[in-house]
Amino acid sequence: MAKGFKILHDKPNCIGCGACAVIAPKFWEMNDDGKADVIGGKNMPDGKQEGRIDQKDFDINLEAAESCPVEVIHLIDEETGEKII
Ligand code: SF4
Repeated sequence: MAKGFKILHDKPNCIGCGACAVIAPKFWEMNDDGKADVIGGKNMPDGKQEGRIDQKDFDINLEAAESCPVEVIHLIDEETGEKII
């Protein structure tokens, strides 16, 4: 498998500002519940969401994560487990 990253979205703490969905609409969308969703992501029992991206999609998702005012978007290197943001 190509190098990839895990997206971890701490959805319960998302304030629904919409920035991620504007910056990276292929990966993030606003839900009717007023919060963002990782497109194609998995809902975890604790309300968080997990997704996966390839290296080529890292930069745009990093930009989305950096734009999040409450820092609830995290990117984790799949191989090393390093939390990049
Ligand atoms: S940028 Fe952060 S707070 Fe804003 S909608 Fe996206 S995840 Fe939620």
